[in-house]
Amino acid sequence: MTLFEKITARQIPAEILHEDDRCLVIRDINPQAPVHFLVIPKTVIPRIGEAAPEQQALLGHLLLTAASVAKAEGVAESGFRVVINHGPDGGETVPHLHVHVLGGRPMTWPPG
Ligand code: 5GP
Repeated sequence: MTLFEKITARQIPAEILHEDDRCLVIRDINPQAPVHFLVIPKTVIPRIGEAAPEQQALLGHLLLTAASVAKAEGVAESGFRVVINHGPDGGETVPHLHVHVLGGRPMTWPPG
């Protein structure tokens, strides 16, 4: 089981912001901004580059959920950043696709 499957199964605690039949949204344990949460599909896709064409609707659902939870977290007006890390150079550490949403402070560009 991946770390995020264990969190979904309530074997590891997390602050859950949203859950539906297809995804779980949790606050990041090591936040990089005042608002930092993760949108995690319940189906394990290791990383975005391994998503299949038939998962298109699920991927869209993750992004729509990211936007809706960002609104609920109060950062829709001020703005937020959506990040998916793929592989070593992308900074991926958990091999279970997740969408980062960061907000509550101005972001810099380019990212580090
Ligand atoms: P990645 O580096 O793979 O894009 O992102 C993994 C994220 O998961 C990191 O931001 C990290 O802080 C977060 N994370 C790792 N372990 C846990 C955990 O046990 N609970 C929660 N809520 N977040 C975690």
